[in-house]
Amino acid sequence: MSNPFDLTGRRALVTGANTGIGQAIALGLAQAGAEVICAGRRTCDETVGMISDAGGKASSVRVDFTDPMAGRGLFDDQAIDILINNAGIIRRNDAVDFTEEDWDAVMDVNLKALFFTTQAFAKAVLARGGAGRVVNIASLLSFQGGIRVPSYTASKHGVAGLTKLLANEWAAKGINVNAVAPGYIETNNTEALRADPDRNKAIVERIPAGRWGDASDIAGAAVYLCTPAAGYVHGAVLNVDGGWLAR
Ligand code: NDP
Repeated sequence: MSNPFDLTGRRALVTGANTGIGQAIALGLAQAGAEVICAGRRTCDETVGMISDAGGKASSVRVDFTDPMAGRGLFDDQAIDILINNAGIIRRNDAVDFTEEDWDAVMDVNLKALFFTTQAFAKAVLARGGAGRVVNIASLLSFQGGIRVPSYTASKHGVAGLTKLLANEWAAKGINVNAVAPGYIETNNTEALRADPDRNKAIVERIPAGRWGDASDIAGAAVYLCTPAAGYVHGAVLNVDGGWLAR
């Protein structure tokens, strides 16, 4: 009996895999049997080590999306079946003071790099007549406005929109495109929020599950979307947020 959650024989590339959510997704994919290429601005030695220690297969590749076209060569040398677009940054400031530099920096990494990396992936998959899976990491701010993060909110709304457009264009070509929209997850990104006791209390009280999410909570959803079990899922933006948006 074949296991619809098994990724043995698949090769995945995860961007921003050296820490946080990307690292957890890389581990989850390896646990499901995939070979994982961990792409990072820095090398992903820790993630590769964790996967190797657990008996999985992983390697590391450098990519810096400060140049948003930097991902185009990632799929030239080996067949990759799964792309996880996880790399992302945030810049905080009042909308009235927000600079062009902060606007461009966030849009380049979170949206432009995501689009052109995904385009390169799809070209490679289609050229070899294969099938592929793309999972984009969106956000609660793909659905809500937030405050003091204008470029982040615009980029993450863009990620949700692109997920649907690409799913629509590629579903019939054998490429599933979906997204996971994390709520409040304990990573470096959110350390400052947790360090402020009042802010932390307000956040936890607002989350129906009553706790911050763990990066592994996001990995579960992302890995599922890569498995044969999710073969009929196209264009979904799956919120994994402890119930935040249900409230
Ligand atoms: P981290 O800051 O821990 O991880 C971000 C990752 O993106 C790092 O690996 C980082 O690499 C990489 N990255 C940043 N800039 C670049 C770049 N120019 N080129 C290549 N890689 C880059 O944050 P999270 O794990 O929390 O975030 C992962 C994703 O999840 C992001 O897209 C974020 O927006 C999203 N998200 C997170 C939430 C949360 O609560 N934590 C909530 C909603 C969405 P390096 O370390 O080398 O800079």
